[in-house]
Amino acid sequence: MSTAIFPGSFDPVTEGHLDIIRRAAKHFDKLVVGVFNNIRKKAFLPVELRVKALEEAVSDMGNVEVVAFDGLLADYMTENDIPVIVRGLRSVTDFEYEQGQAQIIKDIHPELDTFFLLTKPQYSFISSSVVREMYNFGGDISKLVPESVLIAIEHFNNK
Ligand code: ADP
Repeated sequence: MSTAIFPGSFDPVTEGHLDIIRRAAKHFDKLVVGVFNNIRKKAFLPVELRVKALEEAVSDMGNVEVVAFDGLLADYMTENDIPVIVRGLRSVTDFEYEQGQAQIIKDIHPELDTFFLLTKPQYSFISSSVVREMYNFGGDISKLVPESVLIAIEHFNNK
């Protein structure tokens, strides 16, 4: 069975992430979306809400599983027998960062490979940080994120 992981902060998940998930899921028997729980960074949405919003957004994709993880990605992959990382690329800046990450992982774990998917042009300007910023200034983010994220953000901020 071919399995891959799409790791990220997904804080919050955007339409750009979902497009990568949908496209990557077609090429593997199973795609794990790994929500990184960075305890050192203050989150916009708590990890449980990020996972829940993602699960709802991918509920029509039968072979996609959402998990939260902390610690080193490579350790999680080795423990769970996942040999492939999927990452999305929007720009040369993304490429330069991802190249370094992929090469470090390759150097330490030669058995792991990173697959890259280029964003569709209409998603190339969407990032979680743009969504956060727009939301914090009262902007309309409804076209940038799935509905489950809008609900999660409202729920979290009005509690
Ligand atoms: P990280 O903090 O690990 O970069 P992100 O949640 O920001 O996590 O992104 C996870 C992955 O999704 C990265 O590979 C990133 O390049 C990719 N990505 C983010 N936004 C988009 C987008 N609009 N189109 C395609 N890929 C994207």
